[in-house]
Amino acid sequence: MSIFITVMAVLLFLAGSQLMGYLNRSIGQAAVEQMEAEATEYKIRILKQINADFQALNTLAGFIGPEELDDMDGFAKKMEQANENNDFLSMVYLEREGSGVLVTLGQETRTDVTVEDISPEARPLVEQAWEGEAGVSRLFQSELARERVFVYAVPIYDGGKVIGSLSASDRLDIFADILEGNGVMGGNGYLHMVGTDGKMLIRSASDVVSEETDNIFDGPYFSDEEAEEAREAMSGQQPYYSEFTYRGKEYQFFLLPVGINGWYLMCMNTVQEAGAGAYRIARMAQITFLPVIGLMLFLMLYGYNLLKKNNRQLLRLAYQDQLTGAWNLTRFRQLLPESLEQAGGCVAVLNVRQFTFIQEIFGMEQSQRLLRFIKKTADKYLKEGEYVCRDTGDWFYLFLKETEPRRIHSRLITVMNEVAAITEASRSNYQLVLYCGVAIAQAKTRTREDAGKEANDLMTHVMFALDTARGVYQNNIWFYDAQLHKKEELENYVESHMHQALQDGEFHMYLQPKFDLKTGKLSGAEALVRWITGEGRMIYPDQFIPLFERNGFCAQLDLYMVECACRQLREWMDRGLQPVPISVNQSKLLFFQEDYVECLCTLTERFRVPPALITLEILEGIALNNADELNRKIARLQEKGFRISMDDFGSGFSSLNTLGHLKIDELKLDRGFLMNVSNSEDERTRVIMAQMIQMASSLRIDTVAEGVETSSDEEMLRKMGCHYGQGYYYSRPVDVAVFDQAYMTGKKDRSETQE
Ligand code: C2E
Ligand code: CA
Ligand code: CA
Repeated sequence: MSIFITVMAVLLFLAGSQLMGYLNRSIGQAAVEQMEAEATEYKIRILKQINADFQALNTLAGFIGPEELDDMDGFAKKMEQANENNDFLSMVYLEREGSGVLVTLGQETRTDVTVEDISPEARPLVEQAWEGEAGVSRLFQSELARERVFVYAVPIYDGGKVIGSLSASDRLDIFADILEGNGVMGGNGYLHMVGTDGKMLIRSASDVVSEETDNIFDGPYFSDEEAEEAREAMSGQQPYYSEFTYRGKEYQFFLLPVGINGWYLMCMNTVQEAGAGAYRIARMAQITFLPVIGLMLFLMLYGYNLLKKNNRQLLRLAYQDQLTGAWNLTRFRQLLPESLEQAGGCVAVLNVRQFTFIQEIFGMEQSQRLLRFIKKTADKYLKEGEYVCRDTGDWFYLFLKETEPRRIHSRLITVMNEVAAITEASRSNYQLVLYCGVAIAQAKTRTREDAGKEANDLMTHVMFALDTARGVYQNNIWFYDAQLHKKEELENYVESHMHQALQDGEFHMYLQPKFDLKTGKLSGAEALVRWITGEGRMIYPDQFIPLFERNGFCAQLDLYMVECACRQLREWMDRGLQPVPISVNQSKLLFFQEDYVECLCTLTERFRVPPALITLEILEGIALNNADELNRKIARLQEKGFRISMDDFGSGFSSLNTLGHLKIDELKLDRGFLMNVSNSEDERTRVIMAQMIQMASSLRIDTVAEGVETSSDEEMLRKMGCHYGQGYYYSRPVDVAVFDQAYMTGKKDRSETQE
C-alpha cells in the first residue's frame, strides 16, 4: 500500500511538473501569440491607412493633366480642396525638374515651390516618382507641421510620360496609440516602430527602458548572439521573438515586419512585471503545488510510520510473551527454519524442576520474577542470530548457533548455574534445579523445505532429550541421541499397541526344540514369543519383554503363551501324536500373582492338557529375596503337576548354594557359559559348569544347556553329563507349522532331522 501511494505521489509529482512546464510553455506561447496578434493588428491598421492614403493620392493624380496645370490658381484651389477632404497635412505638386504647388493645412498656399523647398525626407520620394515609381517615406519630424509625418509620392502621367509628381504628408493616427502606449496587450505592453537597421522610428512613451537609445541594438534587448540572429531575421523581413532582462525583470518582445519601408513593429510584453491573471494563476499553482506534494508526502510518511508502529504492536501481541518479553513458541517455530537454513544450530529446552511446586510455595510473584530472570540470564549469553522464547510456565526454548556438544553444554550450563544461583543470593533454602534437553541440527546444506522438516524434527527430538534429562536430580543437560530415540520410538510403539496386538493375535508362539543329549531324541520345546505386526514386521522379545515386565503387561502375555502351548498340545493329542513338553517363560510378576495357580489350572483344564506337559521357566533372579515364598509357590504348582525350570542359571548372583534351597525340576544353564568356554577355552568355566551339572544331578534336577551352537559344545556337555541341549546347533526357534512338520509328523529324533 505504501509503495503504491509512493509511486502514485511520484507519478503525480512528475505529472504536475510536466503540467507546470506545459502551462509555463503555453503561457509563454500565449504571450508570444498575443504579441504577434497585437502587432499584426497594428500592422494592418497602418497598412490600411497607408493604402487609403495611396488610393486617394492616386485618384487625385489621375485627374491632373496639362489642362489643369494651365490654370495654376484654379489648380491650387483644387489641391486645397483635396487636401482638406483627405485629411492630409500637406500636398505638393511638382512638375518634373521644375516648380509646383504646395498646400498646407491652415497655411498659405505656395505656387512657386521647387524640390528644394520640401523636406529632405520627401525629396528622394519626389525624384523617385518622377522616375515613375510611387513610394512612402520614412517618418520624420516635419518642420512645417511640427509633428512626425511621412510622405507619399505618386507620378503624374501625360500620355504615358511622367510629367510630375503628387505627394502628400500625413500623420498616422495609430502612431498616437503607439506613442502613448495605450491599449497594447490590454495595457500590459507597448509598441515601438523600428527600421530594418534597428533604428528607433517611434519610441513608445511607456518604454520600460529608460535610457535614450536611437537603435534597439544599442539597448538591453539583445545578447550578442541574439543581435546577430535578429539582424539576420530583419534583413530578410522575418519576424523575430526574444526575451530580455532589464533591471532584474524579464520581458518578452516580438518584432513583426510591417511590409513597408522595412518598418518593424516591436511589441513588448511587460506581463511579468504587471502580473497578468493567467500567469499569476499558473505561478500560484506552481507555488502551491509543491507544498501540497510535500504535505502529501509527509502525511504518507506519517501514515506509514503509524502503520509500522501498529504492525510492531500487533507483532508484539502475537509473538511476544507478555511476562518475560521473550518471543513465544509460535514465533520460535517461525524463526527456526530460517535460522537453520542460514546456518546450523541446536534447539534447547530448559525447564525448572518442580516449577508448579515452586509456584505454590513461593507464590506467583516470586515465580514470575524467576521466569523473568531466566529470560534475562539467557539473553545475556546469547550471540547474534540466537534467541530465546518462552512458551507457558517454565518452558524456555533456545536457539543457539552451535553444533559442537561440548560448546553447547558449557554455554548452557553457564546459564543454568547462574539461574540456579539466584536462590543462594536470595538466601532461600530451596535448591533450584534446572534441566535441559538439546537437539542438534544435522550439518548439511539445505533448502527451505528441508529446514522446515528439520525444524519440526528438532522440536520433537528435543522433547525426548528433555524427558531423559528430567530423570536426573541436578542441573542436567541431555542431548538427543538418534540411536536412543529409535529404541524409544519402538518402545512407544510397543506400549501403545500391545493391547490391540494381543487382541488381534499378533503375538505368535515360536518353538525351539530341546534334545536329549544321550539319545539324540526330541525331549521338548521352548515357547518363545514373536510379535508379528499387521505390516508383517517381526519384533523380537528382547525389544518388548523388558518393557512389559515394567508395565505389567508381561503377566497377560505369559498366560496367553501358556494358552498357546496348551492349544498346541491339545492339537497334537487330537491328532494322535505323542506330545512333547513345552516350556513357557514366566515373569516374576505373574508368578507371584495371587490367582496364578488357578489361572494355569483353568487353562490346562480347558484344553484337557496334563500339567506335566507344561514346564514353567522362571528366572534365577526371582529367588533372590523371597526363597520361602517361592518354594511355597513351587510346591503348589508341582502339586498340580507342573514342572519348574530355573532359566538363565549362572547369569546373575545365584550360587550353587541357592540351588540347594529351591525345589525345582530343571536347571537351564545360561548361554554365557558356553560362550565363555568356546571363546577363551576357560578352564574355570568348564569346571564350574561340570560342578553345577553334577550337583544338580545329585539333587535330581535335570540340566539343560542353552546356546548349543556347535558339535564340540554338544560333545563337551555330553561328557559333563548334561541331560539336554537347546540351541542353534539343532534349530532356531521356528513357527509352529515348521516345528510340526520337522519334529512331530513322524520324525522325532535329531539324527533324522539333520540331513
Ligand atoms: P530365554 O528364555 O533364555 O530364551 C532363549 C533365547 O536364546 C531365545 O531368544 C533364543 O532364540 C535364543 N537362543 C536359542 N538358542 C540359541 C543359540 O544357540 N545361540 C544364541 N545366540 N541364542 C540362542 P529370544 O527368543 O529372542 O528370547 C529372548 C528372551 O526373551 C528369552 O530368553 C526370554 O527370557 C524372553 N522371552 C521370550 N519369550 C518370552 C515369553 O513368552 N514370556 C517371557 N516372560 N519372556 C519371554
Ligand atoms: Ca527361557
Ligand atoms: Ca534362558
